[in-house]
Amino acid sequence: MKRLIFTLAALSLPVSAMAWKHTEEAWTTDDFPLKYWVADDGTAETDCEESVPPGYCATVAQQGYAAWHDAQCADFTDEYMGVCENVGYSPNNADRKNYFAFNDPGDDLKEAGTLAAALTLATGTAFILDGVPYKHSYDSDIVFNDNVKYTTHEEVLAGNCSNAFNMRTVITHEIGHTLGMGHSCEEGETCLDSDLYNATMEWTEGQCGVDAADINSDDIQGITALYGPYATFSCSHELKPGSSSTQAIGIVCEEGSADCDPFKLKCVVESTAYDELIADSAEWDWGDGETSSGLTPSHVYDTPGNYTVRAKFVGERTGCGEWDYTYRKVGYVTACGVPKSAFDIEHVDGLTYRLLNETDISVYGCIFDIQWDIFDGGTLVDSIKAWEPEYTFEEPGEYRIVLNVGGYAGTGASEMTFEAKRRRGDGRGCSTVGLGAGAMGTLLVGLFGVARRRW
Ligand SMILES: [Zn+2]
Repeated sequence: MKRLIFTLAALSLPVSAMAWKHTEEAWTTDDFPLKYWVADDGTAETDCEESVPPGYCATVAQQGYAAWHDAQCADFTDEYMGVCENVGYSPNNADRKNYFAFNDPGDDLKEAGTLAAALTLATGTAFILDGVPYKHSYDSDIVFNDNVKYTTHEEVLAGNCSNAFNMRTVITHEIGHTLGMGHSCEEGETCLDSDLYNATMEWTEGQCGVDAADINSDDIQGITALYGPYATFSCSHELKPGSSSTQAIGIVCEEGSADCDPFKLKCVVESTAYDELIADSAEWDWGDGETSSGLTPSHVYDTPGNYTVRAKFVGERTGCGEWDYTYRKVGYVTACGVPKSAFDIEHVDGLTYRLLNETDISVYGCIFDIQWDIFDGGTLVDSIKAWEPEYTFEEPGEYRIVLNVGGYAGTGASEMTFEAKRRRGDGRGCSTVGLGAGAMGTLLVGLFGVARRRW
């Protein structure tokens, strides 16, 4: 059987997907009903597609939209507005009207084998789904190719199809793209899962097909994820509450420290469908191997790290049954331990040395101040705020070098007594001595004012 491909411009997809995909372009509730026009005046003089009866194009567009409403939990609406001119799309056609055009009037579909294409223009952010920002669609035109033989869904069902494509399956697929659906399986991808292979959004379409006229379970899950009920969360310790880029930062207690408030993250669920949520079914993954359930969970972080928090919510809605939604905040939690300062010194040339910073920065975002203090005897001779400076001593002799590191969880310091000698670059390594808490008080004299903060 001859198989042609649908195309979709500007679609970027993750490589390893196990289910439906999105174009990461979508509409918001303010855009509904999604209004569309069809280049079909019912006369088949110049408009629509000559291989189907007059008026069929306008009918099939409405049937294509109707097919997507099998996803009963997906709250989008659409409205057929009437006839438009049969014009091609181009980047200039950003009139914020969604057209269906036929016979490729703008000569846009040059790729051989293309049945039809949806071109969606999007800007800004519609919403963030599972940590991914989706662009806000504002114009989506669907163009059918020239020189393709089409037939109607009814003719295919009646067994009167040969070497033709079912216009209804093709239009339902393209409307899926307009709504924000990507291909369940993409060209070149092995598609072993029958749900993905049989989805309307699978990338190919055979001649005389009928199945893609109705969306399947994979299509339903994908469109429900876009427009169905959803829930998000926010937690305590947020740096910029309400911002999409906000993070929750806290200080992890060191083992054995008596006087320390644990870093306890308390979260609340936000949803317009809050009353539908089944509390016991909410599952939380804190990113550190621990999990919780419920709608007002809390969690104590006791190991420094950057963590992604993921929550799966389950709800029950009259008319559409049980729905679920997974929301993820990538790198949301920064759990900081007290900075562990460490350094080494490397000879460069003459009395010039490089101060090699070996402070543990494996947890991103915890340290924001670095200061090297150079002491000659008891006198502070220099302070440098840089990660790994080169330093030239004025005279040969013995110096004490202190590296102070400051961040959310307070300060840490380490020191080294060091003899600066004038010589050619031959390299020399030393090791620092970490300072105990008792010694720190005196050594931090002159340190930038980093108080031990709690968030
Ligand atoms: Zn497609």
